[in-house]
Amino acid sequence: MKAAPFDYVRPSSIAEAIDALESAEGDGKVIAGGQSLVPVMAMRLGRPSILVDINRVPGLHSIETLDENTVRVGALVRHVALTRQTQLPLLAEAAGWIGHSAIRTRGTTGGSIAHADPSAELPVVAVALGAVVHARGPVGPRTITAEDLFVGALETSLCDSEIVTAIDFPIPEVAGFAEFARRHGDFGLVTVAVAQVRGHIRIAIGGVGSIPVRPLEAEAILADSELTDTTLSRAARAASEAITTSSDIHASARYRIAMTEEYTYRALTRAIGTTVGAS
Ligand SMILES: Cc1cc2nc3c(=O)[nH]c(=O)nc-3n(C[C@H](O)[C@H](O)[C@H](O)COP(=O)(O)OP(=O)(O)OC[C@H]3O[C@@H](n4cnc5c(N)ncnc54)[C@H](O)[C@@H]3O)c2cc1C
Repeated sequence: MKAAPFDYVRPSSIAEAIDALESAEGDGKVIAGGQSLVPVMAMRLGRPSILVDINRVPGLHSIETLDENTVRVGALVRHVALTRQTQLPLLAEAAGWIGHSAIRTRGTTGGSIAHADPSAELPVVAVALGAVVHARGPVGPRTITAEDLFVGALETSLCDSEIVTAIDFPIPEVAGFAEFARRHGDFGLVTVAVAQVRGHIRIAIGGVGSIPVRPLEAEAILADSELTDTTLSRAARAASEAITTSSDIHASARYRIAMTEEYTYRALTRAIGTTVGAS
């Protein structure tokens, strides 16, 4: 199948891009890497009347260390560039799990965050770290925490004419990542990111709900107990009990819950395993 007809513009500033989206009255779409949008259009699951290509908008392509606590990633930073940066190893590892090299070469950080696929890696990392998303729209710039951005499967709190310009990722003290996918490059059935940010251990789990899930009970266990192997196991169990998931063609709900416990435990041991004493 081919995409339905559409117009195409390639603005050279963020203001022009917002104007083009505004003129389309909700029927326009930003195109960044095209790795999710083009398949959606080819299958006619989406029929935007105009594509606003932001690839020539300056200022969206770089990774900057703002201070010792924060890395700012421009919306057009490709997944492959995330895999190569060294400021945030958690982000590098997670990006390496996205699809295949062709997809990582084109796909963008802002695109992944705005697309909000429930099985995508970068939204899980954004929630685990407590990232802050910068967006620009007709009423000006605003910031949105990752947790407030994701509202449902493929659904965010961005308005129609808003464009993600950058994401601020806190640099964690320690972090761990674990993903269960049938084959490397497939979307994860269960993806877990763990990050200690300003002394607090945060967990985010993807693939088990419509948005990344934070199992707060599990985080409370980690905050209130000595970090022994038994504590990590208890937290992993609590994380699996926190999710409500359903069966699909890829896995039964029971299997996903079991994998959540196992992969949470793995991510926790990768993050803090070296400091774990005997239980
Ligand atoms: C075969 C295949 C396998 C894949 N496997 C994985 C995987 O394992 N894990 C994974 O996470 N992803 C996977 N992807 C998706 C890929 O990572 C995409 O690159 C990513 O989800 C979207 O980024 P993009 O730049 O391509 O966005 P696009 O496809 O250009 O856009 C996606 C959506 O986001 C919107 N958008 C894009 N940029 C912005 C912006 N700056 N502001 C506001 N809205 C914006 C678009 O309007 C559109 O609705 C896969 C894709 C394919 C084709």
